[in-house]
Amino acid sequence: MLKRTEGIVLKTIPFGEADLIVTFLSYDFGLIKAFAKSPRKIKSRFGSSLEPLTYLKIAFWGKEDANLPRLTQSDIILPFKSLRERLDCFLKASEIIELTVNMLPEHEANKKIFTLLLDILKTMEKDCAALHTVIMYKVKFLDLAGYAPRLDGCARCGKSGFSFYVSHGAILCENCATGADSHAGMVLSQGSIKLYESLRKWDNSLAGRIKPSGNLFAELSGMINDHIRYTLSKPLKSSAFHKM
Ligand SMILES: [Zn+2]
Repeated sequence: MLKRTEGIVLKTIPFGEADLIVTFLSYDFGLIKAFAKSPRKIKSRFGSSLEPLTYLKIAFWGKEDANLPRLTQSDIILPFKSLRERLDCFLKASEIIELTVNMLPEHEANKKIFTLLLDILKTMEKDCAALHTVIMYKVKFLDLAGYAPRLDGCARCGKSGFSFYVSHGAILCENCATGADSHAGMVLSQGSIKLYESLRKWDNSLAGRIKPSGNLFAELSGMINDHIRYTLSKPLKSSAFHKM
């Protein structure tokens, strides 16, 4: 059956001499892989449309949950070419893409994450030097994907606390933390907890306007990156994560 949707190219892997396996984040079907016949040939009908980060209208044959549906059409909506051409921009975008590919399950549509990625790429294209776009993506993505760290008080008793325990993905107060973890908690300032809660709630369109102080930004980034590393090293199941 022919399916149509919109997608953002996250990754391509060469297959054989001229073919590609393309990973898309699609609007209607979530993370999908599709087989593209001969896009690497000069006269390919796909042209340059399958470059990473390109936002496209796509059509493919086969069920979206089949092993590899075949891509039949790809029309560029936005190329995001400038993000690929500047190394600093591309590295930032790559971090976002890697997180998305590694944390999302395949074939589960999440329209809010699709919209978030598209909005953040648009913001980055206007001003990719700004560090806050990446942190905003990470915070909102973790929330929408079901992996958000809990910073609104102790995860066990609800009392206030400022030490984040990566093995719990949450803040624990002094009492509850006793014996909870062989690793010391990471002390977070009130400012970075507030910044985190704001980033979760703020609309994507504000990404280009946030200017957190360097210290708050570094503190929150450090915590989020530790949380991501810890989460990715375990089997990813959002429901299990929630029940912790
Ligand atoms: Zn507690």
